[in-house]
Amino acid sequence: MTAIQLNGLSKTFADGTVAVHDLNLTVDNGEFLVLLGPSGCGKSTVLRMIAGLEQPTAGEVLLDGEPVTDVHPSERQIAMIFQNYALYPHMTAGENIGFPLRLRKHERAEVDARVAHLATILDITDTLARRPGRLSGGQRQRVAMGRALARRPRVFLMDEPLSNIDSGLRAQLRAEISALVRELNVTTVYVTHDQTEALTMADRVAVLRHGALQDVGTPNEIYHHPATAYVAAFLGTPR
Ligand code: ADP
Ligand code: MG
Repeated sequence: MTAIQLNGLSKTFADGTVAVHDLNLTVDNGEFLVLLGPSGCGKSTVLRMIAGLEQPTAGEVLLDGEPVTDVHPSERQIAMIFQNYALYPHMTAGENIGFPLRLRKHERAEVDARVAHLATILDITDTLARRPGRLSGGQRQRVAMGRALARRPRVFLMDEPLSNIDSGLRAQLRAEISALVRELNVTTVYVTHDQTEALTMADRVAVLRHGALQDVGTPNEIYHHPATAYVAAFLGTPR
């Protein structure tokens, strides 16, 4: 079953910048797809169009087979996190994760149960009572993911979530994010310019250049059989 379908998706900004050009791509239910490419190639614009924060100038986004052109971002059941996520500083980690649920008047017991479940998967059970100021960068990132996933979105979009994280911690968080989204079985599109992240985390990788799709396949396929010289160079495929 296809969770996300991009049909000829294009975005030209008012100043004439062609950010995304005729992108055709599908993401299966529960799949972890990485959108890979250098800065400025259109990755964030693709995510923003999936989320409905930006309207395509041509083409369309389908979620679960339905065009969502007229569906407001808040109705798309999508969670998105960025590199510069902000936690609420006056709330504990646990309150941060539960906040989207309390806002929607979920029962206290249900909120507590869901926070506890996410905290277990994220391995932050011991830090739930602390405020963000007393958490490490990696713990804050995990809390941000917990908060994003609390409402059980059908699609999870991550825009370079590890770019502000120390390189020493990045490998560990890569593994944890992969484990988290697979355990929750949430369809994920993960944006990065880092080929190591793409090759180690993805079920499939889509490589973008100047807003156009260069290649898509499993890490193994695109690394060993890159479609273009550009993809080979970007991935560092030995030749
Ligand atoms: P990436 O996330 O891969 O770095 P972006 O999607 O942010 O790339 O940007 C793709 C291209 O679109 C870049 O050339 C960028 O400068 C341009 N761009 C992004 N947002 C706007 C905007 N609001 N107005 C004009 N150009 C934009
Ligand atoms: Mg970006």
